[in-house]
Amino acid sequence: MSQLQTPIKDIIRTSGYYLKVLAKAGLVTVGDMLEYVPRAYEDRSTFTTLAQVNLKEVNTLKGTLHDIQKVRTKRGHKLVKARFMDEAGGEAEIVWFNQMHLAALLKENTPMILSGRLKFEYGKLTMLSPKHEYPTSKGNLVHFGKIVPIYPEMDKISTDWFRKNMDKCKPYLKHIKDPLPQDIREEHGFMGKAEAMFQVHFPQSMPELEAARRRLAFEELFLHQMRGVYKKLSLQYAAKDKGCSVALNADRIKELLETLPFSMTDHQKIATFQILQDMEKTVPMQRLLEGDVGSGKTVVAATVAFHTIKEGGGQVAIMAPTEVLANQHFLSLTELLSPFGIVVQQLTGSMTKKQKEEVYMALGAGMIDMIVGTHALIQEGVQFHKLALAVVDEQHRFGVEQRKKLSSHGYPHVLHMTATPIPRTLALTLYGDQDLSIISQMPAGRKEIVTRVVPPHKKQEMYVFCESEIAKGRQVYVICPLIEASENMEDVKAVLDTYEFLQEHIFKNRKVAHLHGKMHAKEKDAIMNSFKDKEIDVLVSTSVIEVGINVPNATVMMIEGSECFGLSQLHQFRGRVGRGQHQSYCFLCTDKSHMTQIDRLRAMEEHSDGFALSKIDMELRGPGEVYGVKQSGLPDLKMADLTDLGLVVQAREAAEALLEKDFALANYESLRQYLLDRVSA
Ligand code: ADP
Ligand code: MG
Repeated sequence: MSQLQTPIKDIIRTSGYYLKVLAKAGLVTVGDMLEYVPRAYEDRSTFTTLAQVNLKEVNTLKGTLHDIQKVRTKRGHKLVKARFMDEAGGEAEIVWFNQMHLAALLKENTPMILSGRLKFEYGKLTMLSPKHEYPTSKGNLVHFGKIVPIYPEMDKISTDWFRKNMDKCKPYLKHIKDPLPQDIREEHGFMGKAEAMFQVHFPQSMPELEAARRRLAFEELFLHQMRGVYKKLSLQYAAKDKGCSVALNADRIKELLETLPFSMTDHQKIATFQILQDMEKTVPMQRLLEGDVGSGKTVVAATVAFHTIKEGGGQVAIMAPTEVLANQHFLSLTELLSPFGIVVQQLTGSMTKKQKEEVYMALGAGMIDMIVGTHALIQEGVQFHKLALAVVDEQHRFGVEQRKKLSSHGYPHVLHMTATPIPRTLALTLYGDQDLSIISQMPAGRKEIVTRVVPPHKKQEMYVFCESEIAKGRQVYVICPLIEASENMEDVKAVLDTYEFLQEHIFKNRKVAHLHGKMHAKEKDAIMNSFKDKEIDVLVSTSVIEVGINVPNATVMMIEGSECFGLSQLHQFRGRVGRGQHQSYCFLCTDKSHMTQIDRLRAMEEHSDGFALSKIDMELRGPGEVYGVKQSGLPDLKMADLTDLGLVVQAREAAEALLEKDFALANYESLRQYLLDRVSA
């Protein structure tokens, strides 16, 4: 048994209550204690003298106490009072309120440290309820004279308690094993783990602390990446030589591109090339293609599908989350590819049993080159002749098992696509088992959506503007904030209130309608259809409603209580206008004049790029707040910061290099053991 397994109670004398609180927070052994890392640090390394104190700040002084006495004021307050003399001969009065027990603890004429705020009144300095510390017999200090860690407090256990008792754990630091291999440590110039943990709890200087934290952050990211990369490589090894290799033929690609009414953006070309390179290998591809709504992912998928089929690779399947989307893909792909003799077929849940069975037959016989569908593609009965490439559109809308099912037909290359623009750091962390291509560039000629933050005093002006848009024949969306995590009656009420207000006071002569999740599906469809048919001018809805229908005539997106939403989510709402030839607008209404919120919302005025916005979101609100990421298994990182792209990429590359060199970790026994322990835990 490792020394680190020693129970806390064996080395720290404390109450049963404290031990219970600690255990509840997962702190049982000395090892657990050492893993309890500070949340911040305070530089208390400098002392001052009474002659030089700063009345606006906390001052830390060295000296002695005299004339300690208990006092009861006329108003009945209980005080402990004393006179303090610093080392330079300065004097101050010290007063502690309501801490009568101190009278017995404080010692006269004994060197000590006091730290607190001072005031200067009636010609004398007074220090109010300062903290104090007496050096140990060896002259050591725990709380002052150094950079001190601030630990997260828990139920009555203070940061001072942790600081004092961490000292008792210090001798155990040397037993900490380092999961980072020596060669990686040397390559990056990282200190050993025990040293890094020492610096974290007992920082010797700011640069050493910084180096320690960086090393530990790297370790966290590296271990996380090891899992993702391991998963990716083991899938690839299992399928080695089984994927169908399609040799890249540039002339073939040109054949298709010449028929397009536009030329691809650079990012589209790069992504296409990365995918085609993957497909040259006999190892099945696992690649994620990320790109904002409208960035043109479909044509990338269509191009590689065309290349696959025409170069004799085999069949292609494209799976989309809804019938509407599947149908849209089916129509556009048929138009694009059938002139080349490619047979495209649709498969959706609404087809009859007989129709489906005919498709199954043709698919199994290899008479269909490309199948486009919904979840119907992963039902029993679907058999391919030879599936070479599986494309999953809007991959976040499918579960892991569902995606696996599609790729379980042989060993197809798999391309996942998503319009949730999450920053590269986060994508690398969340989807460590996939390679990544990013399209962060919009096709030329798109009109920018004019975006404005609207404070309360500008609201009237906004309504007048909306009225003028309606007068021109355009339509308006109004989004009300979601009050609870899932839609409830409060939210419905907010929608109804806004709807009534707008209909009765603002757009009296216009047709206003409302939509919320508590309505029947038929009712919702009817409203959406009449909005599409221009029978409704203003549509008020909750944020959970997916206004999935494309209404190019709608030019205004008005968002109430916009400060409640993440930037990425606001960006998704905004994406519902600007779909036609008319100039479009997005208004972010906010009642809070809180400056930080306004600044955050202003980012929407400046950026039309979803990646830039999600990066800002992540920096301001943390990765968990980035749209769509909340539920999806973010690692628990204590040290690492997911906005540090450099470090995330370094960790990724180190994990890849190591596993490509030594997949079984035969020469990295302690790392192997470390990972195994964590997996079984
Ligand atoms: P998404 O990435 O959201 O799936 P789509 O693939 O549906 O986007 O593309 C949106 C629209 O942009 C389509 O009408 C498509 O034809 C068009 N498009 C794609 N690439 C380009 C380009 N390079 N130049 C001009 N239009 C393009
Ligand atoms: Mg799409």
